[in-house]
Amino acid sequence: MNSKASMARPIPRPADSECEELFARFNSAFFDGRIPAYHIRVQADPVLSPGGRGYHDRKGRTITLLLLPRPELDGTLVHEMAHASTNDYHGPRWVNEMRRLFRRGAPLSELDLRRLCLRPNDGVQCPPLADSWGW
Ligand SMILES: [Zn+2]
Repeated sequence: MNSKASMARPIPRPADSECEELFARFNSAFFDGRIPAYHIRVQADPVLSPGGRGYHDRKGRTITLLLLPRPELDGTLVHEMAHASTNDYHGPRWVNEMRRLFRRGAPLSELDLRRLCLRPNDGVQCPPLADSWGW
């Protein structure tokens, strides 16, 4: 066995159709099916900017996701779907939508759980709510 290859541990890449099924499942479970159909693309490179995990193109009805191990990938998809159901910003409207999704049991990424301070018992200092957090 090639030890280098066994250490590389590539992230399994889901097929586009698998992601679109995930989108349809989340749409029905957490958004009451109100988000119009989107094409979901997964890419190995950061999306739009360094560290960028996702982008939602309302006009082109496409959500682009950075290839991440699951369940972080699922959480990033929910993040972008929350934009699709509200607006393109991380302001109060989107934050409230994310809180609603959290209460409803949607899978949120570790990053968003921390950023949105949805784990009140982990001792994290919650940032004040702002219209622009630079992410
Ligand atoms: Zn966002």
